[in-house]
Amino acid sequence: MNAPDKAPANPEPHVMKTYGRLPMALSHGRGCWVWDTDGKKYLDGLAGIAVNTLGHAHPKLVPALQEQIGRLIHTSNYYAAPLQEKLAAKLCEISGLTNVFFCNSGLEANEGALKIARKYGHDKGIARPEIVVYEKAFHGRSIATLSATGNPKVQAGFEPLVEGFVRVPLNDIAALEKVGASNPNVVAVFLEVIQGEGGINPAKIDYLQQVRRLCDERGWLLMLDEVQCGIGRTGKWFAHQWAGIRPDVMPLAKGLGSGVPVGAIVCGPKAATVLGAGNHGTTFGGNPLAMRAGIETLTIIEEDKLLDNAANVGAALRSGLLAELQGVDGLVEVRGQGLMIGIELDRPCGELLGRAADAGLMISVTADRVIRLVPPLILSVPEAQQIVAILAPLIKNFLASTPKP
Ligand code: PLP
Repeated sequence: MNAPDKAPANPEPHVMKTYGRLPMALSHGRGCWVWDTDGKKYLDGLAGIAVNTLGHAHPKLVPALQEQIGRLIHTSNYYAAPLQEKLAAKLCEISGLTNVFFCNSGLEANEGALKIARKYGHDKGIARPEIVVYEKAFHGRSIATLSATGNPKVQAGFEPLVEGFVRVPLNDIAALEKVGASNPNVVAVFLEVIQGEGGINPAKIDYLQQVRRLCDERGWLLMLDEVQCGIGRTGKWFAHQWAGIRPDVMPLAKGLGSGVPVGAIVCGPKAATVLGAGNHGTTFGGNPLAMRAGIETLTIIEEDKLLDNAANVGAALRSGLLAELQGVDGLVEVRGQGLMIGIELDRPCGELLGRAADAGLMISVTADRVIRLVPPLILSVPEAQQIVAILAPLIKNFLASTPKP
């Protein structure tokens, strides 16, 4: 036994230390609630970082996945894939796009999107295609997607970065027009409709419409990373639909499988045939288990009217937070849409992650100073009120007890 004053033994000596973890280990969940191995209960304001769309142990999802596991998990892409076709058809129906490639994660969907943009350029005779990307963007941690990411902390130590990116600030159409006027190698514009890791920064509706127009005028692909903000999170299937536009390429992942890893690149006519046989592939992509998770997730979102729920409960959550926090010294802004909410403070607040967990709430802190709430889309109004009741006092106490920057 350890002496009481001794630090506990490292519980994970063999797992690489790439994450700063809180000590509690989670054991099981139901709905928007999760329990740890000591029996302590947490309200889930994080949903596995915008992944557990249907919460935990959803009564319709669990039997469907159990049935699928008993039938077929994986087969390879050597054979016809009816479940891929079924999920692809549904994604095309709800997006207005035409074709889908399935993969396993967000970075993989984005990596594929970058390949589409480059090949689209080569097919037009542009030998060194360039892609416009954004300050504060996050697209993943592969070498290409971290190069597209606009965060030096994510890039540090992994240079040389992949070339062929031009960076602009978000919501500044003049900056994008300037790139268009001066750089004939540009082939695509690649952005998150709401930047997630960058601090819940929404692209403005008129900006998105202007970017769509510019892409059409210049023959560029509009590639919208909906990995975090897609699949109903903002109250529409995809966040760009609030602007009444359609992208040419839309990478998805996170919420699509409600916890089962699945990614997708959804393309419209301008991009759908750029990749042909032999240009791209992945062993696990589109496997029957992941496809069934995607099909059931989208079906349950529709049957249970979770788009409306995300919009309504999200509005209640935001107004509840504002009612408690507006005017508090140190609050910069509460922003976001639907169940994707950021609360920006004027100082770094990473320690709130642990304080919230102690108080029975799961959240995240991103971009140093932004508390992020991305709960399951099944969250109820009383649960949203519970989030406010736990979080608002924590924020107020933190601001009152931490020196101003
Ligand atoms: N794109 C966006 C907008 C994301 O938020 C993330 C992850 O946070 C990714 C891509 C990368 O996804 P993954 O972690 O599944 O590789």
